[in-house]
Amino acid sequence: MAKFKGFLFGVFFVGSIALNIFFLTNNLYVGHVNKQQLSWSQRAAAEAEAVASVSCSGHGITYLDGLFLDEKPVCECNSCYGGPTCSHFLPDCVADADSGDPLFLEPFWMQHAESSAVLVAGWHRMSYVFADQSYMSQVLQNHILKVHSIARNAITKGKYLVFGGGSTQLLSAAVFALSLNSSSLARVVAASPYYPVYKTQTDFFETAHFEFQGDALLMKRTSNSTGNAIEFVTSPNNPDGLLRKAVLQGSSVNAIYDHAYYWPHFTAIPAPADEDVMIFTISKLTGHAGSRFGWALVKDEDVYLNMLKYMQLAELGVSRDTQLRALQLLKAVLEGDGREIFHFAYEKMRDRWEKISQIVSLSKRYTIQDIPPQYCNFFEKVRGPSPAYVWLKCEREEDTNCNAVLRGANIIGRLGSLFNASDRYVRLSLLKRDDDFNLLLYRLKELVSKEGGAETL
Ligand code: PMP
Repeated sequence: MAKFKGFLFGVFFVGSIALNIFFLTNNLYVGHVNKQQLSWSQRAAAEAEAVASVSCSGHGITYLDGLFLDEKPVCECNSCYGGPTCSHFLPDCVADADSGDPLFLEPFWMQHAESSAVLVAGWHRMSYVFADQSYMSQVLQNHILKVHSIARNAITKGKYLVFGGGSTQLLSAAVFALSLNSSSLARVVAASPYYPVYKTQTDFFETAHFEFQGDALLMKRTSNSTGNAIEFVTSPNNPDGLLRKAVLQGSSVNAIYDHAYYWPHFTAIPAPADEDVMIFTISKLTGHAGSRFGWALVKDEDVYLNMLKYMQLAELGVSRDTQLRALQLLKAVLEGDGREIFHFAYEKMRDRWEKISQIVSLSKRYTIQDIPPQYCNFFEKVRGPSPAYVWLKCEREEDTNCNAVLRGANIIGRLGSLFNASDRYVRLSLLKRDDDFNLLLYRLKELVSKEGGAETL
């Protein structure tokens, strides 16, 4: 009997160790134990779930830091919906396709509510610095490198990482850093049509070291020597979604590659990018524009150190709370084989592009940009376009202000001249929520069907 008891004990002992190893290696142990032992986090978790459980009819959302009425969270309705539960559609509402708010990814995060939620303890990272005296989480850096290796969109080996408050701050940091390295005034340029912030930001922060000079193509055409120049290269480009290379060449030219959209969501990835200064952002990768987190991959050590210095002087690094949030999001992205978000985003954007293309193809008055199919390093096949924006052109001679024409049809876009292009062009965002996109589609259908000769709609 004693022998049998000893045998049973042995079986349980070994079994228990095996189970512990299983739970530990599968990350289940933490969840298993904590679920029974949660104490101080229970209230925060319950509060978060209570707020999220309020129904806004699928056309709105409640937030922990939103307004409360009679202790109940108030729904923040999607555009063109109103009422206490966002159930009323406002029929004459304008289709606002102006902003690049990447809310099309909201449903992805609702499907991944558990893996993406993060609870911040009251004492989380109160210090100015991490244990290694830096302003950047090493674990977050490792996760960023892993995401790039799955997306196969950038060569990270031999590059330094700098975090910024969104890529917006890093664009400025890069101009500062590159201009400090040059002996004379650096002329900052971008090929038209270009993202307007390059000009507004460079003008606003202008120093004795740099100034904005406008169109890179014009500079190339009109001067033999560019002198010291810094070229913003947006690839794929905002507004037209085309992949780009620097226009200017030479030993005194530095390029800042803005790769905000260089993800399988928005473009084929012909090859991993391997430029000297490359800037990325979670705004367009995970859709969390509000969290303000971006990063730069930099080859040259001096440029890297100057960018780091900029971040130190401007803000003592990116908020540790933001870094924690970004880390949790990237952990969720990397779950499984880490490819799900790219499939989700690509399919959504491709579907939107195809629907818009189909409508515009019936028009004689409007055209949109042509993006050729290309081989994609991520999908390992040739794939069609899925851009973030439509770059729409009014073809009729009299339609010199295309935005005004669209306004007449209850559509708001962004005027071509803001991108240093003609006002015959308008940028329409495809990045917003389904509600916004569906209304845009509806209004475009109305517009094209009024043309005549498009009875097929
Ligand atoms: N670069 C480009 C080309 C963009 O379109 C945007 C945002 N619309 C940004 C940078 C800024 O992104 P972030 O939110 O990271 O500051």
